[in-house]
Amino acid sequence: MSVSADSELFGASGRRKRVVVVGAGITGLSAAFKLSELLSGKNAEIKVFEANASAGGTIKTRSIEGCLLEDGPDSFITAKSGAIDLCERLGLIDELFNTNPQSRRTLVVSGGRLHPLPEGFMLMAPSRVWPVVSSPLFSLTGKLRMTMELLVPPLSDDRDESLAEFVTRRLGAEVLEKVAQPMICGIYGADPRQLSLKATMPRFQEMERKYGSVIRGLLCMPAPAGDSGARYSMFATLKDGLGSLIRSIEARLPPGSIVLSRAVKDVFRDLESGSFRVVLDNDDSVRADAVIVATPAENASKLVFSIDRRLSGWLSSIRFASSAVLNLIYRQHDISNRMDGFGFVVPDSENLCFNACTFTSVKFPHRASPGLVSVRLFLGGMLHKHILDCDDQFLISRAVSELGKLIRATGEPLYRELVRHPRRMPQYDVGHLGLLERVERRVAALPGLEIAGSSYHGVGIPDCVASGEKAAAGVYGYLCDMAPSSGGSRLEYASL
Ligand SMILES: Cc1cc2nc3c(=O)[nH]c(=O)nc-3n(C[C@H](O)[C@H](O)[C@H](O)COP(=O)(O)OP(=O)(O)OC[C@H]3O[C@@H](n4cnc5c(N)ncnc54)[C@H](O)[C@@H]3O)c2cc1C
Repeated sequence: MSVSADSELFGASGRRKRVVVVGAGITGLSAAFKLSELLSGKNAEIKVFEANASAGGTIKTRSIEGCLLEDGPDSFITAKSGAIDLCERLGLIDELFNTNPQSRRTLVVSGGRLHPLPEGFMLMAPSRVWPVVSSPLFSLTGKLRMTMELLVPPLSDDRDESLAEFVTRRLGAEVLEKVAQPMICGIYGADPRQLSLKATMPRFQEMERKYGSVIRGLLCMPAPAGDSGARYSMFATLKDGLGSLIRSIEARLPPGSIVLSRAVKDVFRDLESGSFRVVLDNDDSVRADAVIVATPAENASKLVFSIDRRLSGWLSSIRFASSAVLNLIYRQHDISNRMDGFGFVVPDSENLCFNACTFTSVKFPHRASPGLVSVRLFLGGMLHKHILDCDDQFLISRAVSELGKLIRATGEPLYRELVRHPRRMPQYDVGHLGLLERVERRVAALPGLEIAGSSYHGVGIPDCVASGEKAAAGVYGYLCDMAPSSGGSRLEYASL
């Protein structure tokens, strides 16, 4: 598009267009950055309002005793391209780091001890026979029941099942209890009896439909390319921690775009002009041509209440779990366990106060100073929500004592810090996709309004980036449609 057409599109002579983004987590920042690319050189401005004193939402990196610690996410999956593409556009590609090629395995607590998850086990089902047969993790009955999966008929309808129903029906209760529940619920902080398989792992339902069996489906899958061919391993991170992704976006947005410590209280829409009035917590109002609500759904529900009560009600029906991360640093010589893996998951039946652990200094060796070991524990989630009612001191000392037995610690940690994430884990309950369909139809009927974030189509960082960027593209398309001569602009939008 030519410069003159650009000026025409966003009315160089007329009023400046303004887009407000609510929330400066990775979703809101990805939306703002994408918009800054799309609106570059046009008569438009972006304002991001963030309730907290810093941007990043759940993402926060700290450096303690020469160790890099993450309070929230520590890496992201590379199979979905959103986060890698964003790093590329931010010039961070050389900062990307793979996980340690050694010890790339997960352990499971069973009977108070750490056992490796059989090689080839994919979240809930085995893709290789011998490692399962020879594993001490499952009983003989459990192994026999697992092999029976090949004979279990697929469901005849397309109903949304819970993770618990699907795994028990296909692979048996032992696989649910020992692997699927701790592995999958660690990601979503969910109760497996409520978690929608369709909304979280549709791949397994597809395997059932296509191959008649999940095990057969996994056996038919092409072997992973391996690290020699693939540019990135399954998970990647940034050399200086994921906080550098946030800092990098902040630095690339026009100065003054992000307003910290300023919550949005309400959003109103003028039916005649279609423009928005965004009310802040100091009662100031900001006019906006378009608004992207990039907060958790329960906050979004309050913000859209004045615009559409039904939409607000649907958003408020998405439940949230709370969690906490406990970062610990030990002296290497105080740990007797070989820590031969990236960490472990804890089945509910083991009755520990935490549900997963990452051996950070094994997963990312460059992140710990020589002679030190860093570990992080995850607490809470839907199955253990009451544990978070305890105070920090109680939780820390119980967790340190329980972890100490598993990793055979002979000394106390040098550093311990618990960070809470209250109501930050959206629950994709059975029926989630149906709810999203209704929500999205309603939002589509409100031109200029977009909602985005981890509450909808995926909780991982790449999903949040994709969600923010989709919202940005939607807003850009809307602004183009508003323009007096929209033909050229639509063409440009279509080619994005
Ligand atoms: C403990 C933990 C570990 C995780 N680990 C991983 C991992 O390793 N890899 C991975 O890919 N994902 C991980 N996730 C998931 C991922 O971190 C999140 O899904 C993602 O960061 C959510 O980003 P978001 O921007 O959608 O929401 P948030 O990070 O919640 O950001 C929303 C922002 O909106 C702000 N806000 C809310 N209401 C208002 C308002 N009214 N006005 C202004 N601002 C408002 C909030 O203050 C917040 O900053 C993890 C999550 C948790 C909790």
